[in-house]
Amino acid sequence: MSDSYVIIGDGIAGSSAAETLREEAPDADVTVITDEGEALYNRILIKEFAKGKLPEAPISIHEPDWYEERDIDLELNTFVTEVDPDAREVHTHDSGTYEYDKLLVATGGTPTQLPVENSDAEGIHHFWTFQDARKIQQDAAVADTGVVVGAGLLGIDLAAVCAAQDVDAKYIMRGNRWWRYGLSLDGAEIIHDALEEKGVDLVLESGVERFETDDDGAVVSTVDANGETFDSEFVGVAIGLNFNTEYLQGAGIEEDNGIVVDEYMQTNVDDIYAAGDITRYYDTILDEHAQNGSWGSAKEQGQIAAKNMAADEEVESFRWVSSYSITHFDFPFLSFGFPTLGDDECERKYSDTEWRRLAFKDGKLVGGVLIGDIAPQGKYKDLIRQEAEVADQKEVLLEKEFDPENLAIRQEQ
Ligand SMILES: Cc1cc2nc3c(=O)[nH]c(=O)nc-3n(C[C@H](O)[C@H](O)[C@H](O)COP(=O)(O)OP(=O)(O)OC[C@H]3O[C@@H](n4cnc5c(N)ncnc54)[C@H](O)[C@@H]3O)c2cc1C
Repeated sequence: MSDSYVIIGDGIAGSSAAETLREEAPDADVTVITDEGEALYNRILIKEFAKGKLPEAPISIHEPDWYEERDIDLELNTFVTEVDPDAREVHTHDSGTYEYDKLLVATGGTPTQLPVENSDAEGIHHFWTFQDARKIQQDAAVADTGVVVGAGLLGIDLAAVCAAQDVDAKYIMRGNRWWRYGLSLDGAEIIHDALEEKGVDLVLESGVERFETDDDGAVVSTVDANGETFDSEFVGVAIGLNFNTEYLQGAGIEEDNGIVVDEYMQTNVDDIYAAGDITRYYDTILDEHAQNGSWGSAKEQGQIAAKNMAADEEVESFRWVSSYSITHFDFPFLSFGFPTLGDDECERKYSDTEWRRLAFKDGKLVGGVLIGDIAPQGKYKDLIRQEAEVADQKEVLLEKEFDPENLAIRQEQ
């Protein structure tokens, strides 16, 4: 009898797992269940669509035919409500039941709402799905004024959408700079200048107190933590994700702000694996559990999970240095590894649009941010993979033309 694999979620983690399972287990039954109405698309590119710059077509990655050709059952518009590990069953909103021998949970997260008055009003947008992007694109196109909340890697996408759609926008932040966990003021100021050049006004040391609505319940203005009121027909909020795990209640799967898995993507429950944004995985480079919300990491986790599922043993572990780039400005920006972790750091500004910061933990490089010149990324990522102790050689590491040959490298045996 052939194995039956069920995957919940058709994002990049779930979809790449399905593809790998089909390759590794040609005779198995593979089913992918998603609550979205469309098959895998490029979540990274939906920001370009929301800016009004891209037609729909290039955003789609797989049409339903892609699944048919591989004999993968794709269940669209199907919301999973429960997993029963004893019966080895997945239950869905329409009373559907799917039996599995092995299950992959790849359901990612849903954007968090601000805990303030009127935070669900019409005109307030959260950004995760293609459907969200379509609505954002339409609403931003007709809005004159906007507010963006969330000084992180997704918030800046919403600010860039406002800029591209000529929305007169205020970008509200709690601290004194954008992405304060990853950047010093020196680095952040490069981003601030670039945002202002695009017409986005920064409102620092602020926060949202409440939203005000008109008689139809649509947002019209935002009152900030300092009592200032900003007109905002369009609001974009990106303050984090809540992981989609409600349907796992009672399944006995260990969670710790995400689903806890080992380096083989196995949960604590037999034959249940998890992959993608939703995991708190064992990072074999850091030697501790970690989290990562990026496309490349989710894809790799899906593939690793699938290989271990198909082999029915621990054949391959997840070992990955992630990166995340921002392409809204006329200079590149790249964050790699874990730039917000660590016990030591160094940074240097090379010009008005070029800056670098490196983060170290226990003497080893664990991540960094490159603005302006991202060419050295490969060399830094190699050092992370090597787990080389280099924190005492910051001058060499920060040389503009960094050459690893100039490092005296010590590696753990
Ligand atoms: C606007 C935007 C820009 C981004 N830009 C970048 C970037 O530049 N670089 C980068 O590396 N990353 C970027 N990311 C992040 C990246 O897209 C994610 O890290 C990645 O897509 C995560 O993939 P995933 O498969 O783990 O989860 P998801 O893509 O979130 O997929 C999970 C799927 O599960 C479905 N689901 C959830 N609950 C259920 C349920 N109960 N039943 C059925 N289905 C369910 C969801 O609807 C979803 O389709 C961006 C994200 C966004 C939103």
